[in-house]
Amino acid sequence: MSGNAAIAGSIKLIGSAFIAAIKMLVVPLVFVSLVCGMTSIAEIGRMGRIGVKTLAFYLGTTAFAIAIGLALGIVFEPGAGVALVADATAETKQPPHFGELLVGIIPTNPVSAATDGNVLQIIFFAIVFGLAINLAGEVARPIRSFFDALNAVIMKLAEIVVSFAPYGVFALMTWVAGTYGFDLLLPLGLIILAVYVGSLIHAVVVYGGLITFVARLNPTRFFQGVVEPAIVAFTSTSSAGTLPVTMAAATRNLGVKNTVASFTLPLGATINMDGTALYQGVTAVFVAQAFGVTLSGADYLTIVSAATLASIGTAGVPGGGLIMLSMVLTSVGLPLEGVAIIAGIDRILDMARTTLNVVGDCACTVLVAKSEGEIDLDAFNTPHVLAAPK
Ligand code: ASP
Repeated sequence: MSGNAAIAGSIKLIGSAFIAAIKMLVVPLVFVSLVCGMTSIAEIGRMGRIGVKTLAFYLGTTAFAIAIGLALGIVFEPGAGVALVADATAETKQPPHFGELLVGIIPTNPVSAATDGNVLQIIFFAIVFGLAINLAGEVARPIRSFFDALNAVIMKLAEIVVSFAPYGVFALMTWVAGTYGFDLLLPLGLIILAVYVGSLIHAVVVYGGLITFVARLNPTRFFQGVVEPAIVAFTSTSSAGTLPVTMAAATRNLGVKNTVASFTLPLGATINMDGTALYQGVTAVFVAQAFGVTLSGADYLTIVSAATLASIGTAGVPGGGLIMLSMVLTSVGLPLEGVAIIAGIDRILDMARTTLNVVGDCACTVLVAKSEGEIDLDAFNTPHVLAAPK
């Protein structure tokens, strides 16, 4: 081993601390954010028809986005030729039988699911627990508020961990570069390319297609109308932060009535993250390729469902998707070192995915509004000029 590699190894320690902190977050974050996600979905149920349409759109397009992400990961092969070695702690999994996989998702003991870090079981328990809170009704209101508060605390914790990312990422990238040389630069470039190309395909084909063929509206007007929130999303990397601009664009540029926009957009900024899902698809495939893990058909299905749920649980804040990536990787036994490698380029990826997240919210709003007759078609069809900066 050369002296350089030894130095890289000792720097890695700082990076390992960062990974450990991310691992620390996985169990509480997955459980609490999904319980909260489930309780907000109950609100949607109460919205009746509009709620059901909105949810169907959000979940359907998200699943599509992951499929595009996985496909591009397979086509671009960003991890091919990279031979990373995970720490001994990363478990190598036997591909389970599909039936066993389904039954195995039900934890016989939710507490041991948490101590073992079995993400699929935790997800299952979070979903049924969240649904039970909804079904229990008024009496469970304090539990709901408790989880909302706990969610805020855990998000804060995640924010604190993410704020150490520069050090952790620096250390890990130093180690990676010291150990693997520049061999990793091209793969990282390919990931960026795959995420940007995927986002473009998703926007044009899926949103453009739905606007044209389902809503029967002019897609050019739609894309013109979303330029402002798209720019704000791209630069701020926060769909929650972009929300006021998204609301203004939807009501003013796209002619969506407030009755629909005020419901679908805040909800979208919370649970609809197609860009995040697409990115998780690409990066999961990259990590598998880079660490030489072969993914089975059941693994791909697991990634689709875990990433759909992860995108629901992702907060619309900068870097939110990176934290939830740990949940997706863990669900198929992929090493979390992958998160740290991705973290080095995450901001660039976040810009694309947040933009797609926000454009997706707008597309949903237009579709729902059109189907409900809650859209001002004159406003939609009037070309818009960008507001001059103040
Ligand atoms: N930054 C993204 C958003 O606000 C979330 C993510 O990190 O994927 O939409």
